[in-house]
Amino acid sequence: MNGARQRSLHQAAVDQFQRAADLIDLNDSYREILSHPKNEIIVNFPVSLEDGSKKVFTGYRIQHNNLLGPYKGGLRFHPSVDLDEVKALAAWMTFKTALVGVPFGGAKGGVTIDPSQYSDEEMRRIVRRFTHALGSNIGPDHDIPAPDMGTSSQTMDWVMDTYANISPPGFRQSVKGVVTGKSVEVGGSVGREEATGRGVLYSLRHWCGENSVRLDELSISVQGFGNVGGYFAELAADAGCKIVGVADHTGTIANEDGLDVVKLRDWVDQHGGVDGFHGAMAITTEELFSLDVDVMVPAALENQITVERARALRCRLLVEAANGPTLPEAEQILMERGVDIVPDILANAGGVIVSYFEWLQNKSARAWSFTDVDARLRDLVWQAHDRVVERRAELSCTRREAAYVVALDRLADVYDRRGIFP
Ligand code: GLU
Repeated sequence: MNGARQRSLHQAAVDQFQRAADLIDLNDSYREILSHPKNEIIVNFPVSLEDGSKKVFTGYRIQHNNLLGPYKGGLRFHPSVDLDEVKALAAWMTFKTALVGVPFGGAKGGVTIDPSQYSDEEMRRIVRRFTHALGSNIGPDHDIPAPDMGTSSQTMDWVMDTYANISPPGFRQSVKGVVTGKSVEVGGSVGREEATGRGVLYSLRHWCGENSVRLDELSISVQGFGNVGGYFAELAADAGCKIVGVADHTGTIANEDGLDVVKLRDWVDQHGGVDGFHGAMAITTEELFSLDVDVMVPAALENQITVERARALRCRLLVEAANGPTLPEAEQILMERGVDIVPDILANAGGVIVSYFEWLQNKSARAWSFTDVDARLRDLVWQAHDRVVERRAELSCTRREAAYVVALDRLADVYDRRGIFP
């Protein structure tokens, strides 16, 4: 657990929704239900490694809530994965799906592992054995994993194939939707891979419209150059934004005239990270957080915006592409300093939105065009933003609180109608 994780991340996630619940006087029983995941699945599973040894890995699947639909959320493969982190991430998924109005609940899973330490063949065995250990705890109408940090379309292809192979023969073709984020050839959706980054850009566009700011005049710094930060930076640069600083696990670089993000992508593909990129200078991580930019986009791990960094930030807007990047005390400082925040459950919902489209395509054995996927993604992101703006004005609250209120409005309405069993 790193320094910032001394406190429970799950408790922080609960406190976050409770603040919004206060604003709408949410019924106590709904608060109580949403403060706990419904199911906490922990599996310890052995895998044969290439040197002949056996290693036992610990994997998690936390099913937070399924009121609005099947449990839904990614699988994270990272050394930081633990029960507390996955519980927080699962809860955020419940609020994210409710906020953007896709018929899913919330879940998250993962394995405590550094994938870079294992060969492709070992990773394949680890993923298959993990899927086998989860068994019937996942399913296309029950709980639907997707990629997250450290996992990819390849991981999802293996999960789907393993799940199909442990299903009765007559069901093997109908279980494609057990995971989303598969490669297109295997039943994935066009546009899923870059969907989170694209959703972040649609969020930014909406904010620009609201604030009468031109997108192509913005300077941006990005922490993370993976599936989310990388695609976002490319799309934003393409839309005319100036990407002036980027950090990843290998280093941090800056160029006040704007980085050539297409060349940076090639460099990262060849060298494994941004470090050493020609056409930029190396800076420290702390310098990234104090760059003079219009927008800062954390797109890496949680708890990155600490109190010190909140004081150092010189941006006007923080767009949370990562889940849970801002510590509560840091948010307080940003609010006092007048820095606007587009919260994670709104900013990074593009991934799960296109996951929903993939699931629909699998159910109907159809393939949508990119134009369809993209237009529907934009509509859902913007509708959610509009609703947040409306609730924010009604309640005079922060954008984050309003986002939770929109999610809680939906959850409470359905709880009211369905009641609690028995
Ligand atoms: N892992 C992504 C997230 O945090 C996507 C989840 C999904 O598509 O189910 O939102």
